[in-house]
Amino acid sequence: MRQDLQYYLRLWRARFSRRRKLLWRDGRLQNGYCRDCLYCCGPQDNPKPFPLALLPHQMRPDLADDFFLLAEGMPYIGAEGCKSCGSRGCRLPLEKRPVACDLFPLVLANGLLYMYKTCPAVLFTPLAELVDIGNTAAGWIAGLSHADLRHIFLDLPAQALAERYIFLA
Ligand code: SF4
Ligand code: SF4
Repeated sequence: MRQDLQYYLRLWRARFSRRRKLLWRDGRLQNGYCRDCLYCCGPQDNPKPFPLALLPHQMRPDLADDFFLLAEGMPYIGAEGCKSCGSRGCRLPLEKRPVACDLFPLVLANGLLYMYKTCPAVLFTPLAELVDIGNTAAGWIAGLSHADLRHIFLDLPAQALAERYIFLA
């Protein structure tokens, strides 16, 4: 995150004149800001690749058609953004999106649940609603098997967590 939160507040206030919906539905976040935001799907200012976790049942032989791959079965977003990002957001049908995208701006890191600070949905949704959504998502995550959980937990350095994420649960 190269800019402070004030920068992102100004940016998103200029782009979003009204609040949009952030809902947890059927095991994924529905985020009304994404189609006009593209911040986490388009080109990134952080050159470090960000892995897009997939659950085992989401693995498929044609992943390279939709993603840049760090290794076989491991999509990522890097400086060039995601291969499936179009001018109005994600081009993939819901069933082909990685679980990491279904959850974002919720992020599972180092065994805990966080929210990505600079997402407009995080900055504009009242904290009480974010906590409710986080609790519901945490319940869904708790229902996953250990094998599935191993695929979606990130290992992030403490400094990155402090700079970019809000601890939720
Ligand atoms: S930063 Fe938030 S609103 Fe923007 S594309 Fe990512 S998840 Fe959607
Ligand atoms: S798969 Fe879709 S939602 Fe996920 S990073 Fe790529 S464009 Fe964004």
